Amino acid sequence: MRPAHDADVRRSLVESLYASPASLTIGAVTGVAVGLVISGMSQPGPIQWVVAALCLVASLRVVSAVFFHRQLVRGAAVASRTWELAYELGAWGYSGLLGLMAFVTLLGSRDPVTHMLSVSMATGYAGGISGRNAGRVQIAIGQVCLTLLPTATGLWLQGSTGYRVLAVAMVMMVLGLAEISSTIHRIVVQALVGRRDKSLLAEKFERLARFDSLTGLENRMAMQMRLRDIFETSEKRTDAVTILWMDVDRFKEINDSLGHMVGDQLLRVVAERLNEVVQGQGRIARFGGDEFVIICPDMDRVTAAALAQEILGDFAHGFDLGENHLQVTASIGYAVAPQDGRDMDELMQHADLALYEAKRDGRNRAATFNWSLKERFNRVHEIETGLRRALDQGELKLLFQPIVDLETGHIDACEALMRWDHPVLGPIPPSEFIPIAESMGMIEAMTGWVLREACATAMAWPGEVRMAINISPASLKSADLPANVIEALMDSGLPARRLELEVTESIFLDDSGQTNAVLRELQRIGLRLALDDFGTGYSSLSYLRSYRFDTLKIDQSFMAGVSANVEDRAIVRAIGNLARDLAMDTVAEGIETPDQLQWAREAGFTNVQGYLFSRPVARDRIAELIAAGPLAGTQRPDPVRPIRRAS
Ligand code: C2E
Ligand code: MG
Ligand code: MG
Repeated sequence: MRPAHDADVRRSLVESLYASPASLTIGAVTGVAVGLVISGMSQPGPIQWVVAALCLVASLRVVSAVFFHRQLVRGAAVASRTWELAYELGAWGYSGLLGLMAFVTLLGSRDPVTHMLSVSMATGYAGGISGRNAGRVQIAIGQVCLTLLPTATGLWLQGSTGYRVLAVAMVMMVLGLAEISSTIHRIVVQALVGRRDKSLLAEKFERLARFDSLTGLENRMAMQMRLRDIFETSEKRTDAVTILWMDVDRFKEINDSLGHMVGDQLLRVVAERLNEVVQGQGRIARFGGDEFVIICPDMDRVTAAALAQEILGDFAHGFDLGENHLQVTASIGYAVAPQDGRDMDELMQHADLALYEAKRDGRNRAATFNWSLKERFNRVHEIETGLRRALDQGELKLLFQPIVDLETGHIDACEALMRWDHPVLGPIPPSEFIPIAESMGMIEAMTGWVLREACATAMAWPGEVRMAINISPASLKSADLPANVIEALMDSGLPARRLELEVTESIFLDDSGQTNAVLRELQRIGLRLALDDFGTGYSSLSYLRSYRFDTLKIDQSFMAGVSANVEDRAIVRAIGNLARDLAMDTVAEGIETPDQLQWAREAGFTNVQGYLFSRPVARDRIAELIAAGPLAGTQRPDPVRPIRRAS
């Protein structure tokens, strides 16, 4: 038994002495009543003194027992050593006086009635007390001895045979009652220890359920209970409550590269450092993984922003973990009640949205919630739910925009561009819904649909007009893409050379080898590859060397600035030269004015695409455009008129 818990059991045993003031009172009242009767029936002498002392001790015991019991019920008393001693002295004193009363009566009186009264009283009391006080076994055995041994001595000294037999029986009874007390004591102690073990176990489970075993911080459940308490204690909250939601940036990478042991170590140190920075300003909980939540009652937005900056500043010192020094950053989102949310769930959700915003903004920063974030979130949510339906119910459409051969003015190819008219939100541009489709893992299915639709459309076009399709980086990572392409070609009967896939430079940012393999596979099938939006991303020239792109599409932002901006003109010319020397076709995107067309021609571009010739149009219209021959605006300028160039 551990000492602290030993004390608990002991306290319960002492409390058991006072547990039933009624039985103590009955014992005292009967003893006093019997004593008064004996005293009245006896000649004046020592018996009256003994009975007087008995009355005094009995009264004191009853008063103290009732007082302690009341205190105990109110929770004000503690079963201390003093109370135990008080009980012990009272109990022994009272038992001794009962024994003395029997002894004096047996020797001082000849009346058998008084003998019978005093001996019965002593015997009955001893029997009862051996069970009642077994919790403190030494008190019980002491009381039995103090009551019965003087009585047995009185019986023996009385002299008659019957009395002596009774005296011997009484001594035997002392032994029997002592044994009963010990047995009861053992059983009571076992029960108390069992109860104590059970409550210890319950305590342990409660701790496990409330605290995170890695960092020692409260866990998600405890934190939610705390928040609920805060929100439920005042019906209409007007004081500020801030929730800061923190996430360690790129924690997964640390775990993957340095191992989970280092990851765990980092989380422990992060928890310690958070404790140091936050101190009394709020309660910190680990919300699972690398997420921590800090609840700060009575904290306004300005203070919250300062605290968030303090935490980020602390992270900037780095973390020493044994032999590793890690430079780790964090992102924090915070929301402040009541402005940002009136109940717990809303405030949590808004702090989470703010965290998402901090991550989206580039990490290592803090962001506060504001209601425009919520509007954007709702819109994204609506687009997400709508997209699944859109694909199944044919809400998506394809438009086609001509890509014109500058030499002949004929349409060389058409780019398929997706359109979605949302039943509630109206037309949604692909630049908005395609990244959402990518994040939902829906882009592969959409690409498959575009491939089938576009290939079937291109089959209706005369001659060798090609179809250009945009392929997002996420689709290119999927090993299913070549199979989808082959299926679309086989189903439609379109020759592979008439299909061109446009990819952007961003595919090279996160090249895991898979992209590489898929690109090579597509080239083996005989497809043409175009590098779209060239000049806006990485613009590393090394992949122009390693991949044989058939077409280079210069980003429309350069063409937009070409008339007014000498740098844009220089870039356009340089790209034109580069592509010509690498024997690639070149497309100038976003041609809206004859002037831009002129610059594209000057720079040696082979193809052009833009509103000057046609906006993206439906399949029937594109068929007409193809059939109509060279497009207006593509004719060569008068060779006599020189092109004016800015110097
Ligand atoms: P992109 O591949 O660079 O497509 C060219 C974009 O420029 C199209 O915008 C087109 O409408 C627009 N455009 C064409 N000529 C002009 C012009 O003269 N002036 C101006 N200001 N714009 C012009 P759109 O259709 O909104 O598409 C935007 C982007 O969305 C595309 O850029 C492409 O990256 C993506 N996208 C469109 N459809 C699909 C698709 O089916 N799959 C994938 N993965 N992405 C697509
Ligand atoms: Mg494109
Ligand atoms: Mg483009």
